[in-house]
Amino acid sequence: MRQHIDTIPVWDAFKLDCECPLCELKSTNEDNYVHSFTGGSVMEPDVRVEVNMKGFCARHFKLMMVGDRRLGVALMAHTYLKQTMARLGEASQAVQSVPAKGGFFSRKAPSAGVNLKPLTDSCILCDRLNATMERYVYTTVHLWKKDGSFRAQFKGSKGFCLVHYAELLNAAPEQLSGQELKQFTDMLNEVEMTNLKRVAEEIEWFTLKFDHKNADKPWGNSRDALPRTVLKLRGKE
Ligand SMILES: [Zn+2]
Ligand SMILES: [Zn+2]
Repeated sequence: MRQHIDTIPVWDAFKLDCECPLCELKSTNEDNYVHSFTGGSVMEPDVRVEVNMKGFCARHFKLMMVGDRRLGVALMAHTYLKQTMARLGEASQAVQSVPAKGGFFSRKAPSAGVNLKPLTDSCILCDRLNATMERYVYTTVHLWKKDGSFRAQFKGSKGFCLVHYAELLNAAPEQLSGQELKQFTDMLNEVEMTNLKRVAEEIEWFTLKFDHKNADKPWGNSRDALPRTVLKLRGKE
């Protein structure tokens, strides 16, 4: 049982006129995390230890290193760099200890060797954000199950990006089963398909507007159809 279900931000996001309420929640939370790591307030010692161990991905370093925040980011980058340098020896040791091809523990492919992702792919901010988004996806399914007015709001929404559509689909069986699971997935599919069709028409009209014959015809909703199509396909950047 999850102790804390924060329904208000989910309700608020679903009231927005947007292509994916979960993307809106994600970008709001990402902003908050960026500020919490660079806001100048003293970091709890255990968070500092985690920052030094995981560092940040390129996207989050980039989002943080603006204006007067650069000194704070540089201090974190320096400490993280030193810790990472100390770990290189460990990584090469691990690779050396994996038997070569043909041995008892032979590798299927060179890339199937030692997992070196902690060296290159770790990000404390991604970890925090992913955990938060997992909670909001859970909450969305929870609200759909418990609250009839939310269900109506969900049904009338503009759907989701495919990333969050897939996350909702995957999260549903944790709380729903049988007829209820079928109802949820059917509704999710219907909302998604209706809105993908709408966006497909909008992007098509966007392309047709390049034809000089259509130059004087109204744009309708197509002026920003390209970024909205990309958002639907891959989520908000
Ligand atoms: Zn999304
Ligand atoms: Zn990240």
